[in-house]
Amino acid sequence: RTVYVNGQYLPEQEATVSIFDRGFLFADGVYEVTSVLGGKLVDFDGHVARLERSLGEMEMAAPADRDELLEIHRELVRLNEIEDGMVYLQVTRGAPGDRDFAYPAEETDPTLVLFTQSKPGLAKSPVAKKGIRVVTIPDERWGRRDIKTVQLLYPSMGKMMALKAGCDDAWMVEDGQVTEGTSNNAYIVKDGVIITRHLSNEILSGITRAAVLRFAREAQMRVEERGFTPEEAKAADEAFVTSATTFVMPVVEIDGVAVGDGRPGSVATRLREIYLEESLKTAI
Ligand code: PMP
Repeated sequence: RTVYVNGQYLPEQEATVSIFDRGFLFADGVYEVTSVLGGKLVDFDGHVARLERSLGEMEMAAPADRDELLEIHRELVRLNEIEDGMVYLQVTRGAPGDRDFAYPAEETDPTLVLFTQSKPGLAKSPVAKKGIRVVTIPDERWGRRDIKTVQLLYPSMGKMMALKAGCDDAWMVEDGQVTEGTSNNAYIVKDGVIITRHLSNEILSGITRAAVLRFAREAQMRVEERGFTPEEAKAADEAFVTSATTFVMPVVEIDGVAVGDGRPGSVATRLREIYLEESLKTAI
């Protein structure tokens, strides 16, 4: 595989980052994941916009502008012959030398790394036909979940708790309400209304979430952006999650309780179809 690191395209074995990199020492970095379908980037501009916002909140300068990032994404997709899969991008505050909590002086170059992962048939995931099972766990992450940082230890722990419980993912709960999944936004459907937590510092503003809610409203579906409890979710007609790499993924069980009839619901299934169709139209 060919990867990108700080201006160079290299075989992955030759790509290196300093042990003093603040991404490594402090998780002082942000990332984006953009999916590739049919060789094209899905929602690319949404991901760049969120990256710029994350960088701004971290007081970091952008290492490249939108057009340069697009060029790098496209070059990696081409070099690695990615038909379906994803491009991972990470920016860290660089490697100033000594370990110091204070941010380094402005002149320290950020570290910019991108790589691809091939996932043939990504959009035709057989998992989407069956749906996934989730467990609820306490949300023990930090308070700025709106910034897409590489600080992913708790979501990893959550994923492991889910796997140990024989499930696929975890929904995190804070003050009695579901925040989001370990790497996706969470939704329920009740009496035709799509319910998903409102945006705030408590969740990541999903690029897929924004697109799906827009398509839902355009299709005259009703949307309520508000928190919901695990109990409300278990009594809902449907549940699902969204993310750049899973699109719209039905949730069929929560804490061992079947949601609806325990099969992917019609709203989730329809939204998945609409999302895949519409987002391909704007893929670049
Ligand atoms: N919430 C969290 C915590 C995530 O990690 C992700 C995936 N990056 C999402 C939501 C979904 O965001 P997106 O649709 O932009 O992939």
